[in-house]
Amino acid sequence: MEQRKKYLGKVYLVGAGPGDPGLMTLKGKALLECADVVIYDALVSPQILAMINPQAEKIDAGKRMGRHSLLQEETTYLLIEKAQTEAIVVRLKGGDPFVFGRGGEEMEDLVKAGVSVEVVPGITSGIAAPAYAGIPLTHRSYSSSVTFVTGHEAAGKYRPAVNWSAIAHGSETIVIYMGVHNLPYIAEQLQIAGLSGETRVGLVRWGTRPEQQELYGTLGTIVKLVEENQFGAPAIAIIGSVVNLHSILSSCRP
Ligand code: SAH
Repeated sequence: MEQRKKYLGKVYLVGAGPGDPGLMTLKGKALLECADVVIYDALVSPQILAMINPQAEKIDAGKRMGRHSLLQEETTYLLIEKAQTEAIVVRLKGGDPFVFGRGGEEMEDLVKAGVSVEVVPGITSGIAAPAYAGIPLTHRSYSSSVTFVTGHEAAGKYRPAVNWSAIAHGSETIVIYMGVHNLPYIAEQLQIAGLSGETRVGLVRWGTRPEQQELYGTLGTIVKLVEENQFGAPAIAIIGSVVNLHSILSSCRP
């Protein structure tokens, strides 16, 4: 009780969605509009940053591979510090805070420090980017299961290490976050596990934003195509026969 009295404020862990400002939740937007402090990540789109209360203090905690503006511990410390002095502190993260967003870790640290904290989910890029490309992750004729997985396991960020063989056998649609860099390894592992080289692969970069780009191939061809097209992060990879549907369904988007 004594410790909680120290904190006037509350931290809201808010998901900003994948980029299209229309995909921001009403609850998240309302919090941005009345926040005292907003600490945001690199993948949050400029239109969403523009929703922030003009009087609020804005802090860029952006982290992209190889570029660190704030270390994770520094971000957590800053959140705790701000919660001591400010009423509404928003921790704004791309997509959904609890899907490969370190939201769980941050929330745990805040709870341990006695800070009041609440999560506001966002639309994750692993759902929105395929949707905007015309790829339904499940479909009664093609896929009744979907797995979300990180392709960035090499750095040891997520534990336990991904079992690509189990994923190849266990799911009809595979959605990979942070997978472009490791795609040669992943495509190889999935084929070793028994998936055909003909298995369809779609990559969606900057999904839901005006600059959205897509690249289509197969497990056998995608690595070469990525090189040829210099297709880089941030992108979502979708693997499975649902990828074929993009040729019919993408035409429905304005
Ligand atoms: N919490 C986020 C994921 C953060 S991990 C979410 O729920 O979406 C960062 C990875 O997310 C990127 O490497 C990329 O794979 C994916 N990503 C984020 N925004 C994206 C976008 N607009 N289009 C495609 N992929 C995106």
